[in-house]
Amino acid sequence: MTQERVRVVIVGGGTAGWMAGAALARLLSGQCTVRLIESEAIGVVGVGEATLPHIRAFNERLGIPEAEFMARTRATFKLGIEFRDWGRIGDSYIHPFGTFGRGGGAIDFHHYWTRLAREGHELPPLDALSYACTLAREARFDHPVRDAGTLPSTFGYAYQFDALLFAPYLRGLAEEAGAMRTEGMVIDVERDGETGLVRAVVLADGERVEGDLFIDCSGFRSLLLGQTLEEPFEDWSKWLPTDRAVAMPCRTETAVTPYTSAIAMPAGWRWRIPLQHRTGNGYVYASDFIADADAARALEEAVEGEKLAEPRLLRFKAGRRRRSWVGNCVAIGLASGFLEPLESTSIYLVQQAITALIELFPDKRASASDRDEFNRIIDLEYDRIRDFLILHYHATTRDDSPFWNYVRTMEIPDSLGEKLDLWRRRARVVKYREGVFLDASWIAVYLGQGIVPEGWDPRADVAGTPELLRAVGDLRSEIASEVATRPDHRGFLERYCPMVDAA
Ligand SMILES: Cc1cc2nc3c(=O)[nH]c(=O)nc-3n(C[C@H](O)[C@H](O)[C@H](O)COP(=O)(O)OP(=O)(O)OC[C@H]3O[C@@H](n4cnc5c(N)ncnc54)[C@H](O)[C@@H]3O)c2cc1C
Repeated sequence: MTQERVRVVIVGGGTAGWMAGAALARLLSGQCTVRLIESEAIGVVGVGEATLPHIRAFNERLGIPEAEFMARTRATFKLGIEFRDWGRIGDSYIHPFGTFGRGGGAIDFHHYWTRLAREGHELPPLDALSYACTLAREARFDHPVRDAGTLPSTFGYAYQFDALLFAPYLRGLAEEAGAMRTEGMVIDVERDGETGLVRAVVLADGERVEGDLFIDCSGFRSLLLGQTLEEPFEDWSKWLPTDRAVAMPCRTETAVTPYTSAIAMPAGWRWRIPLQHRTGNGYVYASDFIADADAARALEEAVEGEKLAEPRLLRFKAGRRRRSWVGNCVAIGLASGFLEPLESTSIYLVQQAITALIELFPDKRASASDRDEFNRIIDLEYDRIRDFLILHYHATTRDDSPFWNYVRTMEIPDSLGEKLDLWRRRARVVKYREGVFLDASWIAVYLGQGIVPEGWDPRADVAGTPELLRAVGDLRSEIASEVATRPDHRGFLERYCPMVDAA
């Protein structure tokens, strides 16, 4: 006996909607039918340009060829994020998608680094002791090698791409795999009087679309989960007070760096994301500390190339819905919550939600335990990212503006306080079994923003100081000479994935 397929209805065709549509249509075609409703009259947010390395696994699972995807979305490679002026004005460090040192030793490299720093030795900048950071700083790129233990195996990478081209690309894949798209505006949602489950959505032209499982990808409106099911929103803006951004692309007149830049500003920070055909820029700021017009002017003055559009204003609030899956409705993307784009985590959260949904995919009657497990996974992801983002603001010595004074002195969540204590005492990083931002990421930000621990792993005391200093010097030269043999990033892109349909 064949089981009836679950009728999945996705509301929204932004990045979240089409990622969900493509994944379900391609990976669960036997179990479900996919219908996606989107309204061109509403449009998409469309500024998500920088990603995390996990997106490669998502693309691979969907059978997306890398070079073709990059050419179609005019993508560049991303080896990490450069943070400028965060700990103090004048600082610059990279949070790499890779390790410091060679990786793979009995204890992490930063314990040796901390010991030497605390003993008062002059050390090379941390960036020079990471293959990924050095590759990024030199604006070179080559794929990592698989041979563990070698320097060129100590990093991963992500993409910077044109967000407005990503969803249409996925739409093509989703439709090829059988997903159906409907252009239309959802104006009403019907629920079962007894169970409260969503039964159908009603479009402006009167069409009624029934389903078994509804995926809310309607963006900040959160049409099903927020508006219809009234799931409460947990507001985290006391810790993450930025609530607006002005975005403005410009012509690329400087290097197409294989990294994203996050440059601190008086009331927030600005992003710089170089794509093949243009550079994305935006100023993320807290409206309690700067007026919109001043933020737009500050961005226009700061960008490094001829502007390609007028500044565009976006509003948001940090936080998430208390639960993302309620009844037969799962919210994915902005409909489930938002954390500002400092560490490029939104598309990652979309991907994790889709992966969890596929793993816990319901039959016609979703069970409470499946929903609880999904919500546990998503909460964990949000909570960890929240703490990691707060760290960037809180770990500063800046006192040059009311914004920086606020974030430096604000109360922080206990969960972050505990992490900071562990780090400060003995250079320890909380171990995660699942979720994003593992040890190397926390280490990059802690040290990058000047929090040098008081102690270190006792095993780092075994080696003699001269021997350690020599090893650090050798590491630095080996990294420099390895990196010098790698191709220039721009040249690599031109050979590997030159953009198609250039404007
Ligand atoms: C300033 C800023 C910068 C960002 N930068 C990054 C970044 O660098 N990296 C990253 O990963 N993420 C970033 N993001 C987040 C990223 O843009 C989003 O996570 C991503 O685009 C997913 O959006 P979405 O699909 O959930 O919503 P949207 O793009 O808003 O799509 C909503 C969809 O719902 C449809 N819709 C809404 N209401 C209805 C209705 N009534 N009827 C029919 N259809 C409807 C719309 O037509 C649209 O198709 C950024 C976000 C902001 C605000």
